[in-house]
Amino acid sequence: MNRNWVNHAISEINADYQRSADTHLIRLTLPGFSGIPLYLKDESTHPTGSLKHRLARSLFLYGLCNGWITEGTPIIEASSGSTAVSEAYFARLLGLPFIAVMPACTARRKIEQIEFYGGRCHFVNSACEIYAASETLARELNGHYMDQFTFAERATDWRGNNNIADSIFRQMQNEPHPVPAFIVMSAGTGGTSATIGRYIRSQGYDTRLAVVDPQNSVFMDYWQTRDATLRSTVGSKIEGIGRPRVEPSFIPHVVDEMLRVPDAASVATAQWLETQLGRKVGASTGTNMWGALQLAARMREQGRCGAIVTLLCDSGERYLETYYNPQWVKENIGDVTPWKAELARLTE
Ligand SMILES: *Cc1c(COP(=O)(O)O)cnc(C)c1O
Repeated sequence: MNRNWVNHAISEINADYQRSADTHLIRLTLPGFSGIPLYLKDESTHPTGSLKHRLARSLFLYGLCNGWITEGTPIIEASSGSTAVSEAYFARLLGLPFIAVMPACTARRKIEQIEFYGGRCHFVNSACEIYAASETLARELNGHYMDQFTFAERATDWRGNNNIADSIFRQMQNEPHPVPAFIVMSAGTGGTSATIGRYIRSQGYDTRLAVVDPQNSVFMDYWQTRDATLRSTVGSKIEGIGRPRVEPSFIPHVVDEMLRVPDAASVATAQWLETQLGRKVGASTGTNMWGALQLAARMREQGRCGAIVTLLCDSGERYLETYYNPQWVKENIGDVTPWKAELARLTE
């Protein structure tokens, strides 16, 4: 194994990190929720446009330090798109070939971005097929299957600084409620919720971790039953979150509560957020925010004050042809108007 190349690769990633900035924590004050400020950790501002920038960096470092990735190793990944965009960026930084295995329905904007960074896309018909197709490709090409769904929770360092949870708590320091009552997150790999849940425990905070789950995902049933053999035959329609199988990176024990969010509510909330933020967000951010608003409403009923933090996972610019196209929404998600009305009622 060429240790010089590995050393060089790691220093390239570290230098890239040194050139990077942390992401903003945006405060949302809604008239209907006085004493319950909501915050969005804006992960759309990473160079590759989503929270997966953090994961891709961690997965490359993990693969390099484990001796799995060396000079010329082809990198293969199973992805619903965002991770592949970020990994394509790091593969190019290191001069490695990259192939993304994705469902054919993945947003075109993400496919273009993967190709922009010099990656290739390999399409399969459904979300359930990405795993086996990735394993096969890696074997055939003598490459390394990154396997975000297995390694996300391990590759990320949840203990120390430089993780998303630590950043949230540091950015909350000067707020009226520095320790949030809830952090709300959805699960794709489950890596981010694992990092946040473990960090909360390690620091002894009172914060509850609520995980929101879209339709056609097995995470919530798994959380309730702990049956790891659960399967869904249909993929999630909310890109980036909800899985048809129980992913090894989803750690149910650190999740305090789970909420099911209808897809139409996710899309309605994403569209509604544009009226609050002045810009478009992805549908998983809608899922997160819908969950945050339900918890805020519950706190209001109980007469409680406190902060709720959730994540802005990626920008809506990626989804102009889908979640921001009324025709597509009508055909694939259904009528969002009742959910818009519910949002208006909730937040007024
Ligand atoms: C991956 C992803 C998530 C979920 O994050 P995990 O850490 O993988 O659970 C949410 N939204 C988007 C857009 C994503 O790409």
